[in-house]
Amino acid sequence: MPHKLKEDRIAYWREYRSRNRDKCNAWERKRYAKNLQEVRVCRAGYARASRRKFKEALFALLGAECAVCGFNDRRALQVDHLNGGGKKHYIKSGSLGVLRHAVKNPSEYQILCANHNWIKMREKGEVGPCQHSGNRAKVIS
Ligand SMILES: [Zn+2]
Repeated sequence: MPHKLKEDRIAYWREYRSRNRDKCNAWERKRYAKNLQEVRVCRAGYARASRRKFKEALFALLGAECAVCGFNDRRALQVDHLNGGGKKHYIKSGSLGVLRHAVKNPSEYQILCANHNWIKMREKGEVGPCQHSGNRAKVIS
């Protein structure tokens, strides 16, 4: 490697990539196809770490306990949309998108335990009848 300084190496490879874009893109595609499983695991790990980071930031803003009962086991705490529409938001933006939005707009959200979140969704009619009553739970859009 002719460049001992990291900045020089980065500049060299950036320039090389711009001169050999097709060659580099083909190489990347080949590497991606060959290591698809590893790439997916790596991306899933990154997404998991990001969700954890944003959820902790939201807990710092809103408190890490259920707004109704005070339950505080973080594993069962969920982000609730105060004005409803959370299911649609999750479908549109994904869980990471919802958490990012919640950190930017904490006044639109609250923290609920899983039980109270589901009870609220059931009472607001965001989900269908209980699957124990014979019908499978169904999201109403
Ligand atoms: Zn609760």
